[in-house]
Amino acid sequence: MNMPAAQDALKKYFGYDTFRPMQADIIEQVYAGKDSLVLMPTGGGKSICYQVPAVTLPGTAVVVSPLISLMKDQVEALRANGVQAAFLNSSLGEADQRAVEDQFFNGELQLLYVSPEKLTSRDFLPLLKRAEVSLFAIDEAHCISSWGHDFRPEYTRMKFLKQEFRDTPILALTATADKLTRKDILRQLNLPDPQVFISSFDRPNLSLEVRPGQRRREQILRFIGKRPNESGIIYCLSRKGTEQLAEKLQDAGITADYYHAGLSPEERDAVQEAFINDNTPVICATVAFGMGIDKSNVRWVIHYNLPKNIESYYQEIGRAGRDGAKSDTLLFYSYNDVALMEDILKQNDSDQLDIKLAKLDRMRQFAEAVGCRRRILLSYFGEETTEDCGNCDICRNPPKTIDGTEIAQKALSAIYRLRQQVGMTLAIDVLRGSGKKEIFERGYQNIKTYGAGRDIPFLEWQHYMLQLLNYGYIEIAHDEHGVLKLTPASNRVLFDGEKVPLVRFATLKERQEAEKAQAKAKATERQGVRDELFEKLRQLRRQLAQERGVPPYIIFSDKTLEEMAAVRPMTDDEMKRISGVGERKLHLYGNYFIDAIIEHVGPAASRGKSSTYQITHDMYQRGLSVSEIAQKRQLTETTVYSHLAILFEKGQDINLHELVTPSEVDQVVKSLRYLQEPYKLKDVFEYLDEQVPYHKIRLALAYAKREA
Ligand code: ADP
Ligand code: ZN
Repeated sequence: MNMPAAQDALKKYFGYDTFRPMQADIIEQVYAGKDSLVLMPTGGGKSICYQVPAVTLPGTAVVVSPLISLMKDQVEALRANGVQAAFLNSSLGEADQRAVEDQFFNGELQLLYVSPEKLTSRDFLPLLKRAEVSLFAIDEAHCISSWGHDFRPEYTRMKFLKQEFRDTPILALTATADKLTRKDILRQLNLPDPQVFISSFDRPNLSLEVRPGQRRREQILRFIGKRPNESGIIYCLSRKGTEQLAEKLQDAGITADYYHAGLSPEERDAVQEAFINDNTPVICATVAFGMGIDKSNVRWVIHYNLPKNIESYYQEIGRAGRDGAKSDTLLFYSYNDVALMEDILKQNDSDQLDIKLAKLDRMRQFAEAVGCRRRILLSYFGEETTEDCGNCDICRNPPKTIDGTEIAQKALSAIYRLRQQVGMTLAIDVLRGSGKKEIFERGYQNIKTYGAGRDIPFLEWQHYMLQLLNYGYIEIAHDEHGVLKLTPASNRVLFDGEKVPLVRFATLKERQEAEKAQAKAKATERQGVRDELFEKLRQLRRQLAQERGVPPYIIFSDKTLEEMAAVRPMTDDEMKRISGVGERKLHLYGNYFIDAIIEHVGPAASRGKSSTYQITHDMYQRGLSVSEIAQKRQLTETTVYSHLAILFEKGQDINLHELVTPSEVDQVVKSLRYLQEPYKLKDVFEYLDEQVPYHKIRLALAYAKREA
């Protein structure tokens, strides 16, 4: 097999013009019969690496995947692209399993997804040996490693693959990439000479933002208000938290629901289903949500609380924007969240507690950072960067620094005079000369720095204290109820006159203005891609999805709709050039979207363009049959029929009764009385016991429309 064939398949089945970096190299490796380990972030495009070989090589690609729900999704998406795919797992009954096994054995499948249990079960090996396997893909390969976070014991029983199928290439793919896990994967699979592909973990389409965690609910309402109809997830720490937040959102008129491990499996499925189908756009969830779903049009992710480490944070925000379209992420941060998370970690399990606390600390540093956030993330994952990203809050609104030496001196001297025996809140109260009872009980009103920082409001003090903590001028003694301690660096400030630059505290007004300016910039940005036409296409997608009982993103991704709205394709040829429109989708949905676009731009603007109808019309006038027109124009017959229906609706002279009999028209028109508007082709089809084919229903409806 060669690369031009792979390129063709990429366009034909998936509608994409070019491979992303590394995809082509990985596919070449598979064609050469060699094994690979592929590390790519979520949304990076791992699936193409085995799906393209699967549709170009003889035999069936066997894909091991740990999540049953994901399997069903992936198979559905592949079928929508015209790929022969099926899955085998415990959710299927005996008979269905047999049927799939037969298809596999008869070479009727291009891809077969199997659960690890199925793959390693005793009776499956003989079947594998009899069928022709083009490659093995092991998805979520980190499940092999007990170091990883989703360890699956069955994943460790796959060594036999290389022993039994020496010449069949194996691809192990994962988005979690630490060195230990990597080593484990290669060892467990016993790959003799694998090539390791590590792609960048950057997700440039995700914006990054951290905001102080005050009045979170208000902020969230504003955030969602600016993104009507968009899908998003809000991660909360507790079950109770998800329920309360969902209720607040509902009170504000937002369609929202909650999801956590305390719900029954049926309830969880229902919430997930409604989210996938764009019926419930907003879900408040604990971290468990999102694991088993492939929804590509999640447009934003909010963290209500600080995640426990950067890995979790990155994985969770990674659930946004898998389709590559612009998406937003927002993290709320307050110092209390850190303390809360520390308590949780300490209570839950003391296993590797030091490491866990250190990881939490890195998370805190990220939240408090004053430099480009993306660079911090990427450097955490071991990637070097040389430029700021321009798509995080710091890049968009760089903090201003002031000479904070005097502020630091006051704070440190207060801590010193308080004998390093008080926590942050009380220290600030003393600096502000507060009249709290506790201060007078302990006699703190008598120390020299009492009231020395009266001119600075409490929140602002907190902001500076956190920076002093960050830069190592103070420490928190977690083992002594969180009291503040001085460090060698504090001595340099107190006694050697070391200068301390601090990030200036923006007032609430300034922050609100910055937020407004950012929102405005974003709004203009989105208006470019999310215009009225986009919204129409989105509605159309939703309707088609409902008729077919599939999630909307399976029909086309948001990214594809954005391109359609911008390019406005009005012929099959133009439509084919849109990224994400492969042959099958063009065939199934092309016309609907072309019609919607033509309707939107109006007949005048589309006159030159809509010639595709005119050409069909001319041929029809010349007496060519539908199948002849289809052949000559390299269109499907369905497309030609729908051209004729549209032409007829627009008042053109088409002899409809050559194509559909009066009694058929009659049947269709009568059936409408029993169906709900807007009429769905599928409903009519089913109502008429599947006796009248779709293209005739379409023609009959055109007839009814013109009559009306
Ligand atoms: P992963 O499995 O790595 O999380 P996917 O394979 O689901 O990622 O791909 C993420 C998205 O990117 C999907 O919508 C996919 O169709 C799209 N994609 C993959 N490869 C390409 C490509 N070469 N060009 C355009 N889009 C692509
Ligand atoms: Zn940045």
